[in-house]
Amino acid sequence: MALPNFSSSSDSTPREFSRLIGLKGWSYEKAREMKVIIVGCGGLGNPIARLITRLGIGNLVLIDNDIVEIENLNRDGFEVCDIGKNKAEILKRKLEKIFENHSVRIEAIPKNVLEIDLQEIVEEANLVVTATDNTSSRIYVNDICVETNTTMIDTGFTTDGLRGHVRLIIPGKTACLRCSYFELPVLDKTNLSDKVDLSMKTGYAVSPAPTLSFLASLAAMIAFNVLFEISKPPNYISVNLAEMKFSTANLKRNPRCEICSALDES
Ligand SMILES: [Zn+2]
Repeated sequence: MALPNFSSSSDSTPREFSRLIGLKGWSYEKAREMKVIIVGCGGLGNPIARLITRLGIGNLVLIDNDIVEIENLNRDGFEVCDIGKNKAEILKRKLEKIFENHSVRIEAIPKNVLEIDLQEIVEEANLVVTATDNTSSRIYVNDICVETNTTMIDTGFTTDGLRGHVRLIIPGKTACLRCSYFELPVLDKTNLSDKVDLSMKTGYAVSPAPTLSFLASLAAMIAFNVLFEISKPPNYISVNLAEMKFSTANLKRNPRCEICSALDES
């Protein structure tokens, strides 16, 4: 199939991004230089990656060692033909089809985030997004983002599939994950299971696509606000989609936090 006409619609913005011209703070030149890492390419990470790609972000790193199973098909982004394939690798292929790989460089890492040298990758990134239900992974990413002074967005949803949150972590400015979750376990890199330890009777997190896509949109919009310095969004947003309640807060840093308390407020 012939490519559509990608000739420039302005001095330097390809035509496929022309409808973003005029959006406050955005420019193609800025977007194409940015690098975003997404940890977890499932029902949350998949729509987050697709939304971020459509903002013109030029560099993406997708990390997930999981494979698509038939139980994942209710989530946005998965199809029957994806079953048995690695989530990061198939997401990379799907993203490259959006613009025929015209404007985005994507690296898929089909490994558990705990098994890779994440710090080396994060040091080059503008933003890291966690879209995984694995607590150890989220702590690991949190600690590396604090250490490297890298902005992080954490997403998650409750096991009933009706409530969720998005957190913005700017090291030295906002609370990190360890500031407010004292019950977080000590990082255990010997436990590399991606399966969340659920106490629910069902043994799995109920995951309706509308809930996950809603949270993904919220995370992508916060990413946009932060990357392009549009605004200073609250660092904690929670949603209750059963009652259609939406609340925000600015979580305070914990001066006794073992990870981020040594950082000066900058
Ligand atoms: Zn902290």
